[in-house]
Amino acid sequence: MNEPGVEVEGMRVVFDGVTALGDVSLSIEAGEFFTLVGPSGCGKTTMLRSIAGLTEGADGSVAIDGRDVTSAPPEARNVGMVFQNYALFPHMSVHENVAYGLRFHDIEGRSEDERVAELLDLVDLSGVADRSPEQLSGGQQQRIALARALAPEPDVLLLDEPLSALDAKLRKQLRVQIKTIQQELSITTIYVTHDQAEALALSDRVAVMHGGNVEQVAAPETVYRDPASRFVAEFVGDNNLFDGTVTDDGMGVAVDGATLPLAADAGVSAGESVTVAVRPEAITVVGGANGAGSPDSTLEATVETVEFLGDAYRAHCRWQDRRVEVKTAAAEQPAGDVTLRFDAADTQVL
Ligand code: ATP
Repeated sequence: MNEPGVEVEGMRVVFDGVTALGDVSLSIEAGEFFTLVGPSGCGKTTMLRSIAGLTEGADGSVAIDGRDVTSAPPEARNVGMVFQNYALFPHMSVHENVAYGLRFHDIEGRSEDERVAELLDLVDLSGVADRSPEQLSGGQQQRIALARALAPEPDVLLLDEPLSALDAKLRKQLRVQIKTIQQELSITTIYVTHDQAEALALSDRVAVMHGGNVEQVAAPETVYRDPASRFVAEFVGDNNLFDGTVTDDGMGVAVDGATLPLAADAGVSAGESVTVAVRPEAITVVGGANGAGSPDSTLEATVETVEFLGDAYRAHCRWQDRRVEVKTAAAEQPAGDVTLRFDAADTQVL
């Protein structure tokens, strides 16, 4: 059994009649990198702020490393926080900004200067201690904000969209750095993002949120390959969704005259109405119309728009009155009338 890191029980937050969180419980292990992901307004920030003790009128309990902190003010919870917009003090040097994180904390065995130097080294910015924040790039400022949050050796690190103000390339670089530092320190980390790719890339586990509730908590691979709900299937992995009826032999789903194959262990019964999710990369383009493959597991579709992604093409196809999105690593751009093949191992019944 792993040690508990952050335990949230029955968190409910209502702002002026708007339910931001409706009775959410989460159990995060010590040392885990845990991400809250979901669209704008789903309650991610409210959850993070409630764990930090910054939400007034939050109903529910919070325990950190087994300590009940429900009634504790933010400064007594021993959490470090990094926000989207740098939030460094502009009139203080980098050194002073990081030292500010230490103002109420003595770090055993080290002077303030030693601790600041250690943190600047950790975020790989030892050379900029005397600069002011405005002399740093956005990415560097976020690394300093991270160093400041980590200075007092918090039990939990809370990160609220820390990369969203940065350009795409920097975002990817910095997310690797955050993950590396998190692993080095083994610090329990809760990360908020609306970017599913970022959530999947960084996390040990992900909580997918929607409308103030959690729809699924699982490892990134599970959320991606085995989404628990229609919402998760659409939000993570851009799944194609098909509504249909399970065939008499239980091996397929009849959808508008076609049959999509089901795995033998799909756990459905004949005649049942189901929704099937299929990821774009799990569909194979097998050539032009009437292409190879079993007729039972193919659709005849027409390519409408193609995006070149570098390592693959994303083809937006039309089948009857539906859109079907296909991602193919084929060397040639798919075009015109195509046959799309489905594999039983890649159809998920929701
Ligand atoms: P975003 O990604 O846009 O930051 P989010 O998922 O973090 O969104 P929250 O900021 O937690 O969502 O907001 C959840 C809901 O609560 C939203 O409907 C929001 O408008 C509302 N809300 C948040 N803070 C307040 C507040 N201080 N007063 C009133 N309503 C609020």
